[in-house]
Amino acid sequence: MKAIWAIAPIKTDTEREQAVDFVADLGCNMLITNSATPEMVARANKRDIQIIATVFPYSDDDFENAHPHCLQKMREFEYKVSDAIVGQSHGESYRWQSFLLPRTLLCFEHPESQAEIKKRVERALAIADGIALDGFGFVNYYACFCDRCETLRKEARVQTPDLSDIEIMGKVSTQTLIDVHRLLYDHAKSIDPNAIVTNHVWPHFLPDEYIGAKYKLDYCTQTISWFYPPEWRLERVEMEAAEMKRLENPEINRFVPFIGIHDLPGFVRTPERLAREIEIALKYGGGNLVISRLNTLQKYPGLARAVREAFKK
Ligand SMILES: [Zn+2]
Repeated sequence: MKAIWAIAPIKTDTEREQAVDFVADLGCNMLITNSATPEMVARANKRDIQIIATVFPYSDDDFENAHPHCLQKMREFEYKVSDAIVGQSHGESYRWQSFLLPRTLLCFEHPESQAEIKKRVERALAIADGIALDGFGFVNYYACFCDRCETLRKEARVQTPDLSDIEIMGKVSTQTLIDVHRLLYDHAKSIDPNAIVTNHVWPHFLPDEYIGAKYKLDYCTQTISWFYPPEWRLERVEMEAAEMKRLENPEINRFVPFIGIHDLPGFVRTPERLAREIEIALKYGGGNLVISRLNTLQKYPGLARAVREAFKK
């Protein structure tokens, strides 16, 4: 897959047409978006592009009111920190990977949450060629503290008394994330065996930054270059790509390098730098990669040219 991830909503039919044509002209074969329509999919398919719809585990008012016990819970001090950092700008709060995500997520261990996310998968596949799971992690990056998750850890402690509390926490949280990916992969394939199931491993998972290799998917996209400055040294970009490739198990998923490029002033990368990152991505991704975001490429022709030329080689 050579995919462009849109992130920002594509608001009008005209913008959707432009997005499809833009991505086709870059030489890509996939567009990941939260704005898919049947017309967009038809136009894209004619140009040999697949439209992949994003699926998020964020809570909404209806779910929150009906199932308040099914939301992820943090520890008391984490709520206090969360209150203190409200109002930070998006760029600032994500830039240094602040240690709490300013979002409310469903807890993946509740049947009600699983049913809700499965419904979101069904809605996405009613239109799109596949799904991309995004946001499937923990708001504190390591564990949920709802009653159900506390009970799971208590049970694990009885079964594996030799493990420390921290090891139990990592083990149970790891299993939670592996299980929800398997559940949604199986669900998507039961609806359409040809549906593409992919993701972006985000938010990161502190007990195991390379957990993506364990998620059942067709393609697992993992960050080799993050959106915000300071840019990772190219040596690190290559190290991350090489490690993710080393951990890849083709029976579980194919590793796809993810390059994040933001369009905020002062955040934009040079075309030369992006070209080097793409070169590394293609080398370790076996020709697969995802570049996010669409609007950055649309806004900066030099960056779009770097992508087009890299794919021609
Ligand atoms: Zn929980």
